[in-house]
Amino acid sequence: MGNDKKQGYALNTRALVTGGAGFIGSHLCDRLIAEKHDVICLDNFFTGQKRNVAHLVGNPYFELVRHDVTFPYYVEVDRIYNLACPASPPHYQHDPVQTTKTSVHGAINMLGLAKRTRARILQASTSEVYGDPSVHPQVEAYWGNVNPIGLRSCYDEGKRCAETLFFDYYRQNNVEIKVVRIFNTYGPRMHPNDGRVVSNFIMQALRGEDITIYGDGLQTRSFCYVDDLVDAMIAMMNTPADVTGPVNIGNPGEFTMLELAEKVVSLVGGKSGIRYEPLPSDDPKQRKPDISLAKKTFGWEPKVDLESGLKRTIEYFREFV
Ligand code: NAD
Ligand code: UDP
Repeated sequence: MGNDKKQGYALNTRALVTGGAGFIGSHLCDRLIAEKHDVICLDNFFTGQKRNVAHLVGNPYFELVRHDVTFPYYVEVDRIYNLACPASPPHYQHDPVQTTKTSVHGAINMLGLAKRTRARILQASTSEVYGDPSVHPQVEAYWGNVNPIGLRSCYDEGKRCAETLFFDYYRQNNVEIKVVRIFNTYGPRMHPNDGRVVSNFIMQALRGEDITIYGDGLQTRSFCYVDDLVDAMIAMMNTPADVTGPVNIGNPGEFTMLELAEKVVSLVGGKSGIRYEPLPSDDPKQRKPDISLAKKTFGWEPKVDLESGLKRTIEYFREFV
């Protein structure tokens, strides 16, 4: 903890955000700076971009560090938010070995740092730990249905192994851990070409191109606006030490990809049609979080509905067309 009285700035904690120049990480850095934390944003810029945090550079309480979490990193901090990992399927499948290393070696390095500094550490886990779920909506007690050898496995199994490491460091070394399982999240600063469904559909609609639906478009996802997610991550970090999670964070509103396409096209107001493309392998058929645990544990539920969130996201993407 520190106090910089000269600046009239009472600092809360020294927070490390790995993957801080990415989509979610950059919003988290914004919020932590606004709440007067001293923030180190660590990123190797694989999918993140300096432009996401450029407005923070120059703030004396913000440091941007180029580093790969698969290598150890030494610093003195109170809180670690571990977000480093590509999140869109085309990006994490680009170099699957590096994806697994990022989740597993990254978790070991950041947990080692938490152990040495006695920092509290939050893991950005994922609804992908449930795989193609046979329990619907997904509750935290469900162990999941994950293919260990498929194209998505580098991400899914990497994240599952990271959860294992978090709970072993908790049991073996008393590290204060917080594990959140994030469901599909969207908003400004998603990479326009990252291949995820919301960014693809918005960019296609803005360009007047056909919307690419993979498979029959009847698979479902639940979309959480990034501001709601950041609220939940910070609330979870601030829970008492005995609260470890895992806890689901997401918006329970469930939509088929065809419904999402219709919404995006009607909000953008263009004339895009639909183009059907093959469904990627192991693509989950349905996904919807049960968020009772988050509600009960830290009184959180999302506030931004899909239409309002999409409008804000569409505004952001206009400059890329
Ligand atoms: P993103 O790709 O925008 O951000 C990931 C960041 O991690 C990028 O800035 C990237 O450069 C950085 N990174 C990747 N490998 C790294 C490495 N080895 N060392 C240092 N930095 C590295 O994706 P996002 O959507 O912001 O996702 C952030 C986190 O949240 C990820 O861990 C992701 O798995 C998790 N998550 C996201 C979603 C979602 O829908 N967005 C859902 C579930 C979980
Ligand atoms: N998807 C689609 N068209 C696209 C991109 C994705 O129909 O242009 C589908 C994809 O097959 C999946 C859903 O949208 O069923 C969500 O995909 P995304 O990659 O955003 O996230 P994830 O599959 O990891 O939930």
